[in-house]
Amino acid sequence: MTRDGLTLRPTFGHVAMCVVCHENTKAPVPVRDIPSTSGPETTLYACPDHAAEVSPGPILGELDTRP
Ligand SMILES: [Zn+2]
Repeated sequence: MTRDGLTLRPTFGHVAMCVVCHENTKAPVPVRDIPSTSGPETTLYACPDHAAEVSPGPILGELDTRP
């Protein structure tokens, strides 16, 4: 850890909306990626309370078979 890591204000983490309760969460759990034909995939997130309720789908890189 550097001195800056001890002295600078912590940055806010990734914030995303839960697909179940539609509330923003600061601890999003990626549950599924939706492929797109015109750009990058869209990742759906759930809050920690609802992550276990969502049927998981493949997320980016999960199906890669390359080493
Ligand atoms: Zn939720």
